[in-house]
Amino acid sequence: MYLLKKMLRRLVLILAAVAMLCALVALFILWESGRLALGPCVPGREGAAEGVSGEAGALLETRNFEASPKAVGDLKSGIVDERLVTTLQAITEEHRVCVDTFKEGHYFLPGVPDGPLIPEGYGDAGGLPNSHYYGRAVDIRRVNGKPVRGNSTDPDVLDIGESISRIPPQERPDQIIGSETWAETLGRSSEEGWILDEDQLERHEDHIHLGYISEDGTWNTR
Ligand SMILES: [Zn+2]
Repeated sequence: MYLLKKMLRRLVLILAAVAMLCALVALFILWESGRLALGPCVPGREGAAEGVSGEAGALLETRNFEASPKAVGDLKSGIVDERLVTTLQAITEEHRVCVDTFKEGHYFLPGVPDGPLIPEGYGDAGGLPNSHYYGRAVDIRRVNGKPVRGNSTDPDVLDIGESISRIPPQERPDQIIGSETWAETLGRSSEEGWILDEDQLERHEDHIHLGYISEDGTWNTR
């Protein structure tokens, strides 16, 4: 009887260890794929910008600015366009956002490294300059802790669009893309920088893309 109890206890311990290991592996996979809320969203803090001067440094120290390690790396390396940094500063004055990617780690097609042009396989935009490649674009995955996916009409997610539209035309991104519902509810035009092509809207169900088409200025006329 005593031996049986001992064996049972050992079995329970082994099972508990296996379960814990599985949970750890699952956590790691979720974190790696960026689906875990806490994983990719590290909030800005004092000292986060060590060695980084200027506005990129200021953004890194902004509490409302959360970013993945790759996005932080791009800001530190200086690849991110100043206009984009300024736009993110304006946004984070009113909202907490989680930035997933600028350049590093951005993929149009899974497994195919990004280049200077959008790959032909990526719908109507194929062949156009890749603003992510030049550090002129950002993908936002979360607003005030809520995933963009499934929250197109959430007041916070919509209000980001309002914040962006208040930026003067020549400073505002001219590649503003979100989901179809988001774009429709906001009712903004392509003259104001909104990209409204059906196939692009379909590809932005889970993030808001902000980018600048050209090296200087914008195409916005309103
Ligand atoms: Zn993007």
